[in-house]
Amino acid sequence: MDKREESEVINGGRDVKNVDRCDACNGALTAGLETWHFVCGTCGLEHSTLQPQINEIESIDEAEREKALKPIRVHNFGVLLDWLRGRTARPAQAGAKPRLLDVGCAHGWFLEQAAAHYDVLGLEPDAAIAKRALARHLPVRNGYFPQALQAQEQFDVIVFNDVLEHIPGVTNILKECAARLPADGVVVVNAPDSRGFFYRLSRVFTRAGRQASFERMWQVGMPSPHLYYFNTKSMHRIAAASGFKVVAERALPSIVAKGLYDRINYAGNVSKLRSAVMTAGILALLPFMKLLPSDITVWVLAKQAD
Ligand SMILES: [Zn+2]
Repeated sequence: MDKREESEVINGGRDVKNVDRCDACNGALTAGLETWHFVCGTCGLEHSTLQPQINEIESIDEAEREKALKPIRVHNFGVLLDWLRGRTARPAQAGAKPRLLDVGCAHGWFLEQAAAHYDVLGLEPDAAIAKRALARHLPVRNGYFPQALQAQEQFDVIVFNDVLEHIPGVTNILKECAARLPADGVVVVNAPDSRGFFYRLSRVFTRAGRQASFERMWQVGMPSPHLYYFNTKSMHRIAAASGFKVVAERALPSIVAKGLYDRINYAGNVSKLRSAVMTAGILALLPFMKLLPSDITVWVLAKQAD
């Protein structure tokens, strides 16, 4: 398959530059805050026309990124797994663990944590990152969902950790998930939430002419920018359009104290002193921030009965 054919498969055959109808509810999209940003007037799903360039532009410094993101990710994966296990527990069937697919597993941190309770497999489209996970003997395949799967491969749980918002054609992807799940299987979507405090703050800044934080929220200029910004209303529409229903949701913290300095220092081209001052300020505000709407939500989608 040449690169263009592969891209068409990944994009569900849709030209991502021509966005006028909502991918969730087919409602009309209206212009958003930047030329590439569109919002559905019906369900509130936010879309972008930013172009994914995985394996085309050089990955950013992975070691720095890993250091910056690992504490929050590992913390949230632990919370997510504890919560999820109660929803996917099965009667002990000859000791078999439920099968879990982690789409876009990156370094495999979630796989490592989930392996105690699930029979895990990860897919990672970035060849360099997949190679590193494989070098650590993690069960990872390089490729996209569902192309990298074998014809009959089935799972009990399919997880998208900060991934579904990066893949074009969200309802088509979820229909592919439905085909890979039994009647009681679930999809777990862990993603940024447009109701989050920091996202809304970035919108206010953009309206005031300062786009940097909004563009960082959408990961403009990264190999795989965000194509969607979900919230619970749009997630219900996405689920309904692809044969699922939302059966549970919970917020996850977007900031934890551990690793905060590295994350700030990494994220914004700021000096060490400024990073330290910002870290101290945020640590002081952290107890209050827990009262604000979270920027990360996990939705559990169960298959609708036929
Ligand atoms: Zn919509």
